[in-house]
Amino acid sequence: MSKQITIFPESKCSRCKPSSCCTYITQPIKKPRDQDDYMNLLWQVSHEHVSAFKDRDGWYLMIDGKCEHLQPDGRCGIYESRPDACREHSDESCEFDRVLSTDFKLFFPTYESLLAHCKKKFKDWGEESAKSKKKAKLKT
Ligand code: SF4
Ligand code: SF4
Repeated sequence: MSKQITIFPESKCSRCKPSSCCTYITQPIKKPRDQDDYMNLLWQVSHEHVSAFKDRDGWYLMIDGKCEHLQPDGRCGIYESRPDACREHSDESCEFDRVLSTDFKLFFPTYESLLAHCKKKFKDWGEESAKSKKKAKLKT
């Protein structure tokens, strides 16, 4: 006996069990230019759940962490009063459809990955800081 399956139309979000867009935040940062900027970024990505990336819009920090309002069934616990950032997030071509990091021009999930980039970018990586320290010491 053949069974008939009825498919009900449902939104993409209701099928998105991990509710991926509610499990991290991003924060725009200024473009790192010199060694001091990269040193600062190295400190930031050294922390658990913090990574840095650059996409076509600029540089960002990404902090992984589930929103406290995300319910076990994947729904929002404060849906009616959710923040604007959540209201403005579109489910058109969102994290459900693609791996976010494939959009990145540069992605630094770890200290090591960013350090390798710094060494490639600056031939004298580390020397500038050493010089600055020396100068500061001479002034005192
Ligand atoms: S917007 Fe996309 S990632 Fe977020 S819950 Fe909906 S389908 Fe999932
Ligand atoms: S407030 Fe709601 S929609 Fe916004 S991130 Fe948290 S769970 Fe998701």
